Parts: sequence; structure tokens; C-alpha cells
Amino acid sequence: MTTNMETFQFQAEARQVLDLMIHSLYTQKEIFLRELISNASDALDRLRFEALSRPELIGPDEKLEIWIESDPKARTLTISDNGIGMSRDEVIANIGTIAKSGTRELLQSLRDKASETLTTLIGQFGVGFYSAFMVADRVTLLTRRAGEEKAVRWESAGDGTFTVTEGSKFTRGTSITLHLKKFEEDAEIDDFTERWVIERIVERYSDFVAYPIIYKSHDSKEPDRTLNSMKPIWTRPRSEVTDDEYKEFYKHISHDWNEPMRTWSFRAEGRSEYQALLFVPSQAPLDLFYATGKFGLHLYVRRVLIMEHCEELLPPYLRFLRGVVDSADLPLNVSRQRLQEDRHITQIRKWLTKKVLDSLEEMQKNENESYVRLWSQFGRVLKEGVTDFDNKDKLTALYLFESSNDPQKPTTLKEYVGRMKTDQGAIYFLTGPSRRAVENSPHLEAFRDKGYEVLFLVDPVDEILAQWLPEFEGKKLKSVGKGVADLGEEKELKEKEREFSKLTTALLRKLEDRLKEVRLSSRLTSSPACLVVSEGEASPHLDRMLKQVKGETTQQKRIMELNPNHEIIVKMRDRADDSVLDDFAEVLYGYALLAEGSELQEPTKFNHAVLRILGKAI
Ligand code: ADP
Repeated sequence: MTTNMETFQFQAEARQVLDLMIHSLYTQKEIFLRELISNASDALDRLRFEALSRPELIGPDEKLEIWIESDPKARTLTISDNGIGMSRDEVIANIGTIAKSGTRELLQSLRDKASETLTTLIGQFGVGFYSAFMVADRVTLLTRRAGEEKAVRWESAGDGTFTVTEGSKFTRGTSITLHLKKFEEDAEIDDFTERWVIERIVERYSDFVAYPIIYKSHDSKEPDRTLNSMKPIWTRPRSEVTDDEYKEFYKHISHDWNEPMRTWSFRAEGRSEYQALLFVPSQAPLDLFYATGKFGLHLYVRRVLIMEHCEELLPPYLRFLRGVVDSADLPLNVSRQRLQEDRHITQIRKWLTKKVLDSLEEMQKNENESYVRLWSQFGRVLKEGVTDFDNKDKLTALYLFESSNDPQKPTTLKEYVGRMKTDQGAIYFLTGPSRRAVENSPHLEAFRDKGYEVLFLVDPVDEILAQWLPEFEGKKLKSVGKGVADLGEEKELKEKEREFSKLTTALLRKLEDRLKEVRLSSRLTSSPACLVVSEGEASPHLDRMLKQVKGETTQQKRIMELNPNHEIIVKMRDRADDSVLDDFAEVLYGYALLAEGSELQEPTKFNHAVLRILGKAI
């Protein structure tokens, strides 16, 4: 009968997710229904959008609905919609692969994690459809794309393969039949063929879905029932909506299984009227920094959904927020192209940005612990906002940095300024790959001895951030690894310069291919030497990052600074023409590189020099 049946393998990632689902210890198995209803609701939304330009897609079948039907005897449950449906190619592409960026990496990390974190992690990819396999041992999907003649039948027992054949379906949309696992009365799982069970699940998770969810009874005497109220949650007064309702709504629009960290509802009244319901996810989405990531809020105009991912409603550095905006002022037919220039959208974006930044500030003040948690997830993306001229001050006040003051607690710039010593000239920082790497850098020594706090900018974006933040509240931000240390001992150094001039000249001559200057410095107290760059030049950390990304460095020559009080520098002062100088220069240079966390350019040369010096010393 079905001659055109083709069998396919699930993509490796999809297969792993499926395995996790089938064997999952996830106790809330009932959420499969929420996921399938969400997909049905999305398919109806998509149909509505496409029909804006092609009304024939809807045609006479104009009541957009979701149906649930159960058959206790056959132990099946069917969820149907008359939405956009899928073509054969779409079925193969969408069901059977996981296209989300970062999935592979996530699955990799899953292997090392305990199973409790599994559910939080798994929630991040939007594995909605696969959750059906938590309750079914076989799933059949029958679908017909709006505007197409042919239907497609997809089937799988979740065993690594699926089949695709031509199907027969007279109306557009998708119908998913679950062949439910055997029901055991003593197991803690409900019988999903019972109406009251379905009723309870829909009420709990999907009440706000904008299309009727109709229960069609198997028993023909029982009338069909609409199970959801369809009330848009953001139009209801906050006091009347329970936390659980907000959470479920968040999960519906975000496809995240985890609960949101924060829920904010804002309302603007007066000349223009709009409201917003925003959520901060509890974890940064996997694709937050991928170009393929899909962001943006749901845009409604007077309760009608206009766009699912409207990116224009928030600046890019707030793209981690999920939620909806409903405006009374926009035309219903506002087009994507026009959005960017639309006066109302610009106005909403300004308003929302202010509301969000105010809320973050309040959270930082009154619930610091939660704020620190939020920062750990979204700090990096908030830092991108440093280029937003209008909000720069507000944003920089929100930024947290690691600092030498307290290893446990990040600091704001304001707190830093409050702790500054009276004679301290600037806000000092050092960039690097990790706290551990910079904490032990020789560049910090004198600053530490003077009790000056140093910020550790150890996030890759901090290099760029530092360039955009020349000062804060009138205090300059200054890298401890750049320019002259300026620690108030410049006069004494000047005097010593002549004393050491033979040594500095000889060292520069020896290391000329790598250095542009050798000078004395007040930066060091216990180390003999370090390498610095001029103000305005790329830091060694940036140089290393460029090398990783582009395979090349800026190849700038650096400056070597000597500690005139260090024993070995003092000893070498009068032996600048000694034959040991060659090896001494090599070892000193290598030492300085290693101490700041850089790599030796010529390890063999360094090693040989070390051995020769040791040979003489022993
Ligand atoms: P997600 O919904 O998070 O994208 P799913 O695994 O639930 O992940 O679904 C994968 C894709 O399959 C969806 O993005 C959609 O394109 C398609 N799909 C799922 N269910 C339906 C449906 N009822 N109608 C049309 N397309 C659907």
C-alpha cells in the first residue's frame, strides 16, 4: 500500500535528546501536552502571518483551533491544529534534527553533569516535540501544509529511526497521535486518555493560549468543550495573576522549560498607551552570542499578535529578555521594513529600556544577591551597552567587576571609587584571561603594596569595554600594564636613571628585535622586571586573543621595565659589559613573559640560557 515509504536516521544530536527523553526521570511527564499545544499555537500564528499576504491559505476553514481527542480503548491521544502544517521537506528538516546553535556543545557538557541538572539544561533547547516520547512508545504525525495538495505521514517509535510516507488528510494543519505507554494505576502518572486529566493539564499550563483548545470526547453523547479561557495574561491586573500563571506563560512564549528569574510588568498610560510583560530567563540561552540566535519580544496590537520576534523593541544588549509588548497606537498592518523607522516603536523602545534599567538598578540596590546571579548570566551582554550613548551612565553603574578588594564579591565602579585612597590617581585595572592569571601578574605589585585596589577585567569583551570607558565619575580608568605607572616616585627614578643607564642601554641593544625601550619603574616591588605597552597600544591579552582568532599578532615592540631595588638588577648594574649579560637578558625577558601569562616565543633559547646561568652558579 505504502510503496513510497522512506526510513531516516535521526540526526546524532536529536537521537541523544530523544534518548534522554525516553529514559528521563523527569517526573512532570504531563508537560508533553503543553509542548504540543505550544507548537500547535505557533503553527496557527504562522498561518495567520502568511495569510496576510496570501488570504487563500485560510480560505473557508477560517476558525483557527486546536483539538484534543482521546481513545481509551486504543490508548491514543491526538492533538490537532488547522495551522500552517508542514511540507515533506519541512517535516524531515524540523522533526528529526535539532538546528539550534550550541546544542552539540551542550550535549557534550551534559555527559559530565549530574542528572538533576539534566532537566534544567535540556529545557534550553526547545525539544518540545520530542517530549511526546516521555509518554508514548510510538508517535504518528500527519500534516498538510497550507496551500499544498499532498499530506505527509511521519512515524517513529523513538528508536533512532523514523519513516516518512505520503499520507491522506483532507484539511490543512497537523495532527499528532500518541500511542500511549501502558497505563499502570499504581505508577505516579495519570491516565492521559481521561478528560479530567487533560482538562487539568490544559488549565494549568495553557489557559492563556489565544486559540480555543477543544476537547472532543470519544463518547459521542458528550458535547465538545473548550478548555482554555484565552485571556491575554498581560491585560489582567498583576494582583489577579498567580506566579504559576506567569511562569507557564513564560515557558509558552520562550520555549524554555525553566522558570524565569524575574517577571516585570510595565504599563504606560497617557498620550500613548502600551504595556509590556517581560521576563528574565534563569539561564542565558545557548545562542545568546550566536548570529543565528532568534531574539525579540512578541508584539501585539490591541491583543492581536503582529510579530513573534520583534527585535526593534529593545536595544541589542537587552536581547536576553523575553516577553510581550501590546500597543494601542500601532497600525495592525505595520510591516517589518517600516518598524525600524516607526515613531511608536522608537518611543516604546526608549520607554522599555528605561523601565528595564530602572528595574535592574532597583534589584541591584535591594536584592543584591539576585542581581549578582542575574549579572553572572547576562553581564556580558549588558556590557555591550557601553556603546549606547544615551544610557551609558545608567549602564556603567550596573556593571560588576572582579577586584583585588574581595575575591568573593564583585564590585561596582561606584563602590570602588568609595574605597579609593586619597592619594590614588585613577581607577586601576588589568585585563587578562582569568582572575588567577592576572592576580599574580608583576604589574600589580606596587599597586598592591600601596593598598590601591585593582579591577580584574577577565571577560573577553572587557578589552573593548575598557576602551569605551575612559572615566567614571571624573576618575580616569587606567591599565596597570600600560604607560608609566605614575605612583608618585618619578623624581627618585629620574635620579637613578643615570646610575643604571649602562645596563638599560646594554639590555636594549641585546633585545632590540623585541623591545623598543628599557627603563626603570616604580611598578615593581618583588619582581625584577616586567613588560608593558604604551598608553593606547593593544594590551598583551588583546594581542593573545588576536593571535587565537586571526592567527596573527599586532607585533608591536614592548617596553621592559626594571625594578631598581631588586637584588639581581642591582648586581647587574655594574656588570653590563660582562659576558653573562647575553644570557641574563634572555632569561629576564623570558621571565617577564611567563610572569604575565604570555608564552615564550623561543623556549629553547630561554632554556639554554637558564642552564648556562645555573651551570655558573652551581
Ligand atoms: P521548537 O518548537 O522549540 O522549535 P520542536 O521540536 O517542538 O521545537 O519543533 C520543531 C519544529 O517542528 C518547530 O519549530 C516547527 O517548525 C515544527 N512543528 C512542530 N509542531 C508543529 C505543528 N503542530 N505544526 C507545524 N509545524 C510544527
